Amino acid sequence: MSRLGTETAFEVLAKARALEAQCRSIIHLEIGEPDFDTPPSIVAAGVAALERGETHYTPSAGVVELRQAIATYLRGARGLTVDPAQVIVAPGAKPIMFYAILALLEEGDEAIYPDPGFPIYSSMIDFTGARRVPLPLREANEFAPDLDELRSLVTDRTKLLILNSPHNPTGGVLPASSIREIAKIARARDLWVLTDEIYAEILYEGEHRSLLREDGMADRTILLDGFSKTYAMTGWRLGYGVFPWPLVEPVTKLVTNSVSCTATFVQRAGAAALGVRPPEVDRMIEAFRERRDAIVRGLNAIEGISCRSPKGAFYVFPNITGLRLGDSDTVAERILNEAGVACLSGTCFGRAGEGYLRLSYANSLQNIEEAVHRIGGWVVQSSRATSRT
Ligand code: PMP
Repeated sequence: MSRLGTETAFEVLAKARALEAQCRSIIHLEIGEPDFDTPPSIVAAGVAALERGETHYTPSAGVVELRQAIATYLRGARGLTVDPAQVIVAPGAKPIMFYAILALLEEGDEAIYPDPGFPIYSSMIDFTGARRVPLPLREANEFAPDLDELRSLVTDRTKLLILNSPHNPTGGVLPASSIREIAKIARARDLWVLTDEIYAEILYEGEHRSLLREDGMADRTILLDGFSKTYAMTGWRLGYGVFPWPLVEPVTKLVTNSVSCTATFVQRAGAAALGVRPPEVDRMIEAFRERRDAIVRGLNAIEGISCRSPKGAFYVFPNITGLRLGDSDTVAERILNEAGVACLSGTCFGRAGEGYLRLSYANSLQNIEEAVHRIGGWVVQSSRATSRT
């Protein structure tokens, strides 16, 4: 148990709430969830399922209709040929990560994962006793992996490569040419790949390309996706994985052993989301684009901060080294306590996150503007105080 890590966003949320309990005003840019309500058509489908009495267990891998709807969606949206029997539904996308890593890794294995990256990847690799091998994502390379570096990290012990595009925390997107090369590396070195595509729909330019589409990848790729982000359904808990055939039975057993199945009415709501795309989804993505532009503009206007415009997801990852006000943990803590803006230190996502902060712009334009204003004011005050001492 001592090897298990955590997701710091929840800890910062707790600290921010404690400050609010002391009547402090805090703007929440720490947690990665849409501030929008779940579209009404999805809520109605969930309620209707409850009223029909769909309050019983389902098969562990999920109801057939949802697994079919997921396969149909993946064909239309990503050009993937997926058998519904390869789709395993879970309470959120996170359990798919948990199951896949648990099923594949053991002591003596190595797993390559993005750094900075979603903290649960490294936590779960550690938990299995495998060796974690960070793949640095650098700002100079638009937060995409350097493929020569990736090649150099693969050894005979490497069993799993984890990818995430669009990427949390940087908003970076893997270019199609890199995806082709990564597929080549995976085939040549016989790697399993976990491709976390939960932000596939939250993309501001170009088209999302799934690694699963590359030749020869169906036998070695686990596709992870879910409903939390695209349909603003974080609290419903609904996600899924598409697994290569040899993993379908073991992972289904892991579901049976852990949660039995995902809530039935939640699965029905998910099928409705995929059936007719709610118009609110595209409106939400447009709102995110406007907020992205506002937060990037605002942060870049602060002396000492430089912020790239991310291509996907709803996070910015500004470089704060020019502030000279301490390391990322110190700056994030001070911005919370002194400026009343909750955000995350880049190091919550790995060592390579030092020098950065992560701010989620899944918040109203008004709050974003106020947050940038508060951070700007805090920077001016703190820089003056530092230069006086
Ligand atoms: N993958 C990534 C990259 C994420 O950012 C998140 C949520 N923050 C998840 C997976 C987990 O999603 P869920 O809430 O559906 O478990």
